[in-house]
Amino acid sequence: MIDRVRPHLVINERLIFEHSSPGKVAYQLPVLDVPAVDPAEALGTESVRAEIEDFPEVSEVEVVRHYARLSTWNYSLNTGMYPLGSCTMKYNPRVNELVARIEELAWAHPYQPEALAQGSMEIMSRLETALAEITGMDAVTLEPAAGAHGELTAILLIRAALARRGNPRKKILIPDSAHGTNPASAAIGGYAVENIKSNDAGMLDVAALEQIVNEDVAALMVTNPNTLGVFEEHIIRVAEILHAKGAFLYMDGANMNALMGIARPGDFGVDALHLNLHKTFSTPHGGGGPGAGPVAVKKTLEPFLPVPRLKQSGKKWAYDYKRKHSIGRLRAFYGNFGVMVRALAYILAHGGPGLRKVTLDAVLNANYIRKHLEPFYELPYQSPSMHEVVFSDHRQAQKGVHTGEIAKRLIDYGFHPYTVSFPLIVHGALMIEPTETETKRELDRFIQAMTAIAEEVDRDPQLVKTAPHATGTSRVDEVAAARKPVLRWKPA
Ligand SMILES: *Cc1c(COP(=O)(O)O)cnc(C)c1O
Repeated sequence: MIDRVRPHLVINERLIFEHSSPGKVAYQLPVLDVPAVDPAEALGTESVRAEIEDFPEVSEVEVVRHYARLSTWNYSLNTGMYPLGSCTMKYNPRVNELVARIEELAWAHPYQPEALAQGSMEIMSRLETALAEITGMDAVTLEPAAGAHGELTAILLIRAALARRGNPRKKILIPDSAHGTNPASAAIGGYAVENIKSNDAGMLDVAALEQIVNEDVAALMVTNPNTLGVFEEHIIRVAEILHAKGAFLYMDGANMNALMGIARPGDFGVDALHLNLHKTFSTPHGGGGPGAGPVAVKKTLEPFLPVPRLKQSGKKWAYDYKRKHSIGRLRAFYGNFGVMVRALAYILAHGGPGLRKVTLDAVLNANYIRKHLEPFYELPYQSPSMHEVVFSDHRQAQKGVHTGEIAKRLIDYGFHPYTVSFPLIVHGALMIEPTETETKRELDRFIQAMTAIAEEVDRDPQLVKTAPHATGTSRVDEVAAARKPVLRWKPA
């Protein structure tokens, strides 16, 4: 049975203003035993307001409980599974947070002289080495601050390498199953984007690719596994086709929890790829905090990597700024160091066999969900699933219920919605990525919820179409909320 009770959500909290009553304060101070001063005189008139309109007056316990209750409104990985496909919202071991908070690391300052930053530099170097090993590449820059930033970095590296050969070329090829950031990065990098259609298996059409790769093509950007959760089986042939025409193969490696310890992009012909440390390698994802999108490259692209580069002379680490082919800086200082510390801690704690197990579990969990939901939801592509699975609302749409409505009903069952209507090549997509960190019990709860919703669609489509029912607010006007946000409270 589904547990429909959600004690973690108390959704009838009043506004702080409504807790207010005149004269209440959240502190107790002893009576002054020194002469009082006029605040305006002591602080300056610009710092003192005679009156603050409608300022809430509440006691300490009311403030604490109000905000503690509000904090539970945010669905998070601490409260339950987050099946948001393409995003790898997974639980991250707390120990990596502990390591990132070690005082000497947390307080390291980018202006600290090199002699006093040797430990931090060694951490970065070890992480570069580990990521090169995991991806099968020759060199890594940790500088980019996010996945899309890494994509742009790699495109600029490819442009620099081609320009050095005499012609930066004009086009980047991108399959329709790619992540949405890829075309944007290619365009910002100064390239025209040409779309290539996937075949019936949800993979790159190799014959079509062979037709369009010419001397105008700088690179192919391929997400692998792609956004259908499908591994590009002909990737080695794809690399050969590009290389034969002097073009590069770029891989979007945000989904590395589908490959780690099993396959290395460097071994199947990839020239450059980015990783999302805030997906695969332990930094919590989605909180709006810092991330990191390291870029790993083959030797041919290494001279162009952003400055500074770490180098070792004798036993000492130093930063090398004098690299004449470098594309320059992508970011202030050296990247988001705290994210790197977490990633190295995560990699070392798992070791090679542990990372391999992460991958096996991510793929197993996605396939467990696929098998159990296949009888209820349409599976548009039959190719094997890796770390995520994409269904469509084809069957439910016949009852007038669409993917967005099924996702909203999922909220009533206590889950964060899956990814809605993406990838675009699947009409009415339900994109589900359980990640490796969920227990069988949580997966079963999710499967039960999805199954129950499919049955509800048959029995009472209106119930699903008007969901969510268990939340404080049901359907909001999402467009108006984004375009005309009301950010100021006005007394009634
Ligand atoms: C998340 C993701 C990105 C973008 O990463 P950001 O850090 O959000 O910029 C790119 N490609 C894929 C496949 C992704 O899943």
